[in-house]
Amino acid sequence: MPTYCYQAKEEKGCSLCQEGFEIVQSMKDDPMEKCPDCGNAVVRVVQAPYINRRKSTKSLLSDDNIKKHGFTKLVNEGGGKFRKL
Ligand SMILES: [Zn+2]
Repeated sequence: MPTYCYQAKEEKGCSLCQEGFEIVQSMKDDPMEKCPDCGNAVVRVVQAPYINRRKSTKSLLSDDNIKKHGFTKLVNEGGGKFRKL
């Protein structure tokens, strides 16, 4: 059975739906509309295209390609901080 990923529709709810959660559902099941924990409205997140997009971005922003075009690469260190390479 496929695994679906859900996330809170709005910036409210519990830590489970704010960070997103995965659930195994049958194809025949209706999509979930509410967080099983707090009942907040959730939406289904499609994961696969997101992964594909990250792959293509990586090859486009390879170190060599960036240097060739005279750009400086900024590495996201988390917490909104960026480090120049
Ligand atoms: Zn929740």
